[in-house]
Amino acid sequence: MSQKLHVYNTINRKKEEFIALNPPFVGIYVCGPTVYGDPHLGHARPAITFDVLFRYLVFLGNKVRYVRNITDVGHLENDADEGDDKIAKKARLEKIEPMEVVQYYTDRYHTFMDMLNVKKPSIEPRASGHIIEQLQLIEEIEKNGFAYEKNGSVYFDVEAYSKKYHYGKLSGRVLEDLYSNTRDLDGQSEKKNSFDFALWKKALPEHIMRWPSRFGDGFPGWHLECSAMSTKYLGEEFDIHGGGMDLLFPHHECEIAQSVAASGKETVRYWMHNNMITINGQKMGKSLGNFITLEELFSGSHAVLTKAYSPMTVRFFILQAHYRSTLDFSNEALTAAEKGFERMMEAYNNIDKIKSSDNSTVNIQDIRNKCLDALNDDLNTPIVIANLFEAVKNINSAIAGSETFNAENIAECKKLFDDFVFNIMGLVAETSSSGNEILSTVVDLLLNERIEAKKRKDFAASDRIRNELTALGIEIKDTKEGFEWKLKN
Ligand code: ZN
Repeated sequence: MSQKLHVYNTINRKKEEFIALNPPFVGIYVCGPTVYGDPHLGHARPAITFDVLFRYLVFLGNKVRYVRNITDVGHLENDADEGDDKIAKKARLEKIEPMEVVQYYTDRYHTFMDMLNVKKPSIEPRASGHIIEQLQLIEEIEKNGFAYEKNGSVYFDVEAYSKKYHYGKLSGRVLEDLYSNTRDLDGQSEKKNSFDFALWKKALPEHIMRWPSRFGDGFPGWHLECSAMSTKYLGEEFDIHGGGMDLLFPHHECEIAQSVAASGKETVRYWMHNNMITINGQKMGKSLGNFITLEELFSGSHAVLTKAYSPMTVRFFILQAHYRSTLDFSNEALTAAEKGFERMMEAYNNIDKIKSSDNSTVNIQDIRNKCLDALNDDLNTPIVIANLFEAVKNINSAIAGSETFNAENIAECKKLFDDFVFNIMGLVAETSSSGNEILSTVVDLLLNERIEAKKRKDFAASDRIRNELTALGIEIKDTKEGFEWKLKN
């Protein structure tokens, strides 16, 4: 329990109080997508995790600059700097320009992030738009003796770096193990050591994405863009760097090495990593046939799905687990999340129906404090949700007459939902709910017509409205005030 935000700092392997370097300004950098394929489940979790962090820091009164990049060049097919650039490969297969691939999938990514109600970052820089900054960074690293050139490519000298600094600080990898695990089998590599990584790769004649440099035509290594762009927009030292756990090594480890090699500075104060999503207990992968795009998920068009799940069901489901736990997708778990979210929205819509009483049997302020404590404890959204269900229980009991709210409780309860459900967790009432609102308005309208008909003694019309609504599955009860109705289950 704490009044202050604490986050788990991956590099120190413990929860630490969050203290902004330059309050109220907070800088966050999160590794965004490599835009060569349709956005999938794996994209949803980091986007939502850091969206909640972004929203909560703003809620706490900070001025947040949230930078999330688009990788549009330099991400090769494998970590050993071999193989094709993922985007160039897609462009070749589809016979289109690489920047068409980038534009198409960037637009797709934005569309699906909007559906998930993920806020746009403050800045969304692209790697290809920052070649000059990346070349400048290479100059610094080389000047300090931590890079070497070979046949038009430039590599980071991990061994030289390790003599002065700690390589492996973030991931816990030990250089001695890397020597034995990554032995160069074919002897073809131009690197001094196989664990050295590319800062700049020479472009072969057929390579389309290429830029001139003093090393010759080439393109930047994948890790370099994040070091260059985070420094450019957030400074040599900034607050939070986030991303998926899969990026911890080599990507983030290499980012640290590059920044330290260039400026001698640690750069990032807090490293935060979200855990991975599994599907029915298995790792998600194209070869396993369980690779689900967000479009397939929202439309239900994938063999492992028994139905479609709405964006808010998915968002709610992701927030029901702590971001550092693994999260397993299954139809059962998603259906449960869908029901849970519906119950929460129903309760919210019922707050207005609570009749305030002079005495109060509920303590909404206590629920609010528990929600804040949970967020301050490393963004523990499952505990926030559990506490919000306490409020749901109170609302339902008040409607049933077994609890009483005073006027202040009602206002506190609305604010509780507004702040935690909508503002911080970024959930929104969905089309199905607005569909319900339309239904509600239409049924109310017809039942008011029925009252008018009765007043006119037009019992034929009054009965017809009643019978037709009953046939549609609507249960009507006449009351002193007029009527009540509900959908038959
Ligand atoms: Zn990155």
